[in-house]
Amino acid sequence: MLNSPPNPKPPTPHLRIGTGYDVHRLVEGRDLILGGVKIPFEKGTLGHSDGDALTHAVTDALLGAMALGDIGQHFPDTAAEFKGVYSIDLLERVNVLVQNRGYSVSNIDATLILQRPKVMEYLPGMCQILAGALAVTVDQVSVKATTTEGLGMTGQGDAVAAQAVCLLIRI
Ligand code: MG
Repeated sequence: MLNSPPNPKPPTPHLRIGTGYDVHRLVEGRDLILGGVKIPFEKGTLGHSDGDALTHAVTDALLGAMALGDIGQHFPDTAAEFKGVYSIDLLERVNVLVQNRGYSVSNIDATLILQRPKVMEYLPGMCQILAGALAVTVDQVSVKATTTEGLGMTGQGDAVAAQAVCLLIRI
C-alpha cells in the first residue's frame, strides 16, 4: 500500500530450507560408507574424505539453508586435515554452525541413488547416525534409496549419487 510506512528491517525467517546433491565415483580398493554406515561391497566411493555422498548432500543442504556456501568451501579437498575424514564429523561441525546462528534441524529427507549394493537394510542405521550428528530424533530424518533402472552413471555402477532437502527452524 502506497501510504503504509516502510518496514526498515524484515523479520528473521522462522523457517529456512536448503537442498544438497553429491556424486562420488565407485572404485575398487575403497570402503563404501553412506550415511556414516560402512556397507560391505566390492567397491567404495572415491574421495578426499571417506566419500560419503549421502552425508555430503545432507551437509550441503544445511549450509544451503543458512546461505553459508558449500561443503567444499568449508572443508577443502586440498587440506590434509580432511584426508580420509569421517564425513559425519563434518556434518556435526556444520550443525554447530547452524545452532550458533539460532536454528535447529526440523527435518531431513534424503534419497540415495545407486544400483548396487542393495542398501535397504542399512537405511535405519543411517537415519540413526545422521540424527545423532544433527542432535535430533530419528523420526526427523528420512533416508530413501532408488535405482535408476540400470541407466546412466549410477545405473551402470560407476557412481553413487545422493540428494537431500532440509528444513531448519528458528530456536
Ligand atoms: Mg562429496
